[in-house]
Amino acid sequence: MMGLPQLPPGMSLAAYETVTSTNDEAKFLAVKNSAPEGTVVWAKEQTAGRGRMSRKWESRPGNLYSSIILRPFGSLADAAQIAFLPALAVGEMLKMFTPTSNYSFKWPNDVLLNQKKISGILLESGDWTQTASKWLVTGCGINLIHSPTETQFPATSILKETEINIPVEEALLAYSSFLFDWYKKWKISGFSAVREAWLKNAIGFKKSLTVECRGQLFNGHFVGLDPRGALELKTENGIRIIEAGDVYLADEF
Ligand code: ATP
Repeated sequence: MMGLPQLPPGMSLAAYETVTSTNDEAKFLAVKNSAPEGTVVWAKEQTAGRGRMSRKWESRPGNLYSSIILRPFGSLADAAQIAFLPALAVGEMLKMFTPTSNYSFKWPNDVLLNQKKISGILLESGDWTQTASKWLVTGCGINLIHSPTETQFPATSILKETEINIPVEEALLAYSSFLFDWYKKWKISGFSAVREAWLKNAIGFKKSLTVECRGQLFNGHFVGLDPRGALELKTENGIRIIEAGDVYLADEF
């Protein structure tokens, strides 16, 4: 087993045995310690890991739980595009350790292996009206060796799908490095390269989907992502822009 990973220049690691949630710890460091961007919080387990809408993220030891603090310039709407970067970083990590695996991205920011979820992402932000609180915390859970059974969408782990056991420290180093590389690319070149890389591996792109959005169901064709990362759904009544929701593929509904 390797010791604590040496993150690339511009990044630093805050490592813990147990936290409630790496996002909570990262938010605390961003607010109370003015921690710089590139600070990565890593914990071996979370006692209150969560996904979007306060859904529970199963977080026993063995998988990767980490959050990174970023302090992008620009509007909060632009910063929302950062939600797509973790999936790209998980994809690069999978390419590195499991070159033949069949991974895909599902809007808004799940990563699937053989169509089952291995990773979830939670983006949280500070108060954008105050310069000092323009921080983002990007949390990501990656199922390296285990996954829960009772989930809204089928879940799996990298070990189960590929028989490859990626040591958690190596996964942390690869994932965080790829994420920071994509962040630097996004800062220089904007959303278009990110959108293109994400759509290349997006499940359901150009296909028919059902989206559940605030209790309403919309059927249509997934035709693109708008500049903020919202899903463009071509419906009978024209293009509908979906900012938040759960996507079901035709065979899931
Ligand atoms: P997104 O879907 O945008 O990636 P997210 O994954 O952070 O966001 P959710 O999709 O709401 O957030 O994730 C929480 C849901 O995922 C839970 O309701 C549960 O069904 C399921 N879940 C919880 N823990 C895991 C896990 N370790 N692996 C896969 N699915 C999980």
